[in-house]
Amino acid sequence: MDPRTERQLVVFDFDWSLADQDTDRWVLEVLAPDLRRKMKNLKEQVQWTDLVAQCLRELHARGGTREDIEGALKIMPFHPAMKRAVLKAKEKANPKTTFLCLSNANQVFIDTILKEHGLEALFDEIITNPAEWDHSGLLKVSRRIDPTGPQHKCQVGCNPNLCKGEELDAFLARHRPAFDRVIYIGDGSNDFCPILRLRSEDIVFCRSFRGLQKRIQKERESAGLKCQVHYWAGAWEVEELFNKI
Ligand SMILES: [Mg+2]
Ligand SMILES: [Zn+2]
Repeated sequence: MDPRTERQLVVFDFDWSLADQDTDRWVLEVLAPDLRRKMKNLKEQVQWTDLVAQCLRELHARGGTREDIEGALKIMPFHPAMKRAVLKAKEKANPKTTFLCLSNANQVFIDTILKEHGLEALFDEIITNPAEWDHSGLLKVSRRIDPTGPQHKCQVGCNPNLCKGEELDAFLARHRPAFDRVIYIGDGSNDFCPILRLRSEDIVFCRSFRGLQKRIQKERESAGLKCQVHYWAGAWEVEELFNKI
């Protein structure tokens, strides 16, 4: 490790990055496979966060409870090596690591899973779509960026509800001075926008065979990607990378 790296930021995408599955899809695969199919059929026509909210309303209308949803989240795959890797980095005094979660899932899904794995104190900040249980047990999910208000200005192709690049910029502005190093762990095509903000001393741990890898391979040159890229497939390799850098 570079001895000058004293203060680092670790940014985690959640689905298929920190967690070893996709929360939105998993909950329906466990509780209502027909709604999971409906989600797949409608995803090109309906904005994703709105579609998740709609499926949760349908699940609730047919009797799906809060306990059902929390139960599904608690059994969602979460790799022990990932848990070891983040807890070890968290307890280290040098470098001192700040953890940010930048996710297109929602607050309730993420909080429920973190708590289940004893990781509720991991993140200094979680930036995601808002969600809350209403009195009847319906989980109400809404977009991070309200569709009736001002929209983000992203040109990289982010979904209207969230631009992870703009969120990362805003986070870095709130936490000056600049971190000595930023490590970004992600898998999806919407993780490409934030990694364009990284510098040559920063590193992306990119999960192989998914949207982010495809975008890096195709747009690396044209978009001017500056950070270093390491690929991984299983969480044990992320643990290995954390130990190596
Ligand atoms: Mg992801
Ligand atoms: Zn963006």
